[in-house]
Amino acid sequence: MYLNVHSHRKALKKDEIVCRNAFHFLEPDAIKKLTYPVSVGIHPWHSEECKKFSERKLSELLLLPNVLALGEAGLDRAKGPSLQIQMACWEMQFDLAQDHKMPIIVHCVRALQDIFPFCRRTKVPILLHDFRGNEQILQQFLPLDLIFFSFGKSLIKTKNMEEVFKKIPANRLLLESDASAIPIEDIFKKAASLRNQGLPELCQQMKKNGHLFFGEKSLAFF
Ligand SMILES: [Zn+2]
Repeated sequence: MYLNVHSHRKALKKDEIVCRNAFHFLEPDAIKKLTYPVSVGIHPWHSEECKKFSERKLSELLLLPNVLALGEAGLDRAKGPSLQIQMACWEMQFDLAQDHKMPIIVHCVRALQDIFPFCRRTKVPILLHDFRGNEQILQQFLPLDLIFFSFGKSLIKTKNMEEVFKKIPANRLLLESDASAIPIEDIFKKAASLRNQGLPELCQQMKKNGHLFFGEKSLAFF
């Protein structure tokens, strides 16, 4: 089984388990009907919607049995509305996730230093998805036990992240396809070769990490 921890599409094959990103404006009934697990949150690019989209509505979605995480939410200094608007939306969602004891999938572009104080005080697991930090930044986040790191297309498309990737402890790593069309199997194969690990062993570890990150709710799905 290949656990694809963050994706914008459905599973491509039977042996793939996807946590799909769902739109926050979907009605609870529409989300409940999905046969697979999802994450729900307000993407930083859409932070302005925080004004019209109530916290209560998001809370309602988080309670659904197939909603495993809040996200993706976070900060993006390269795209989207001003950092001030993004920060207000992120803080609201960060607090909400703490109240609901829900893990958070974080989208963070050129803003790891802005996210760091939240990572320090979180009581729920946080996944830094598509992690692009350098080694120094990784060392800053590693002592925080609740922080997980996921990788996907960057392993296939560039060599830049290889050294950092090899330094992620086995129990803090997850893999994802995100918005790319790359099959998750290809990402697992590349990851296994970079880490000098057998593919079945890596699949097993990612499943275990998925349970650690998503918690009990995920046991119904994989
Ligand atoms: Zn994404």
